[in-house]
Amino acid sequence: MKGSKLYSIFKFRCPKCQEGKFFESHFYDLKKLGHVLEECPSCKTSYVPEPGFYFGAMYVSYALGVALFVSIWASANWFFEKVSAGLQISLITGSIFIFGPFIYALSKIIWANMFIHFDKNNPK
Ligand SMILES: [Zn+2]
Repeated sequence: MKGSKLYSIFKFRCPKCQEGKFFESHFYDLKKLGHVLEECPSCKTSYVPEPGFYFGAMYVSYALGVALFVSIWASANWFFEKVSAGLQISLITGSIFIFGPFIYALSKIIWANMFIHFDKNNPK
């Protein structure tokens, strides 16, 4: 649904107009991993209001990472009677590789959405 922050976050669209792309390319394009465009191609809102703006996104990715690991750990223990330390470590390491780029990208767009708000009166 347009106008909600979730739309911008999960569609990886501009937080302001929800039309323009937010990232340079797909988040599994490892060469451009998490590269945010300078501005929205559609409404020209700057995605980088100040230098080092995305530094704070690190807290978001930390929170997402912890949430992910806790749920993996909990479901591993739920589904298997006995989960060896080795299996837990491989599950978590594997999930870093699988979900890492996604979490990284997600944290940036969540962070941007905390500061840039949807504007339905946007000309575009
Ligand atoms: Zn825009």
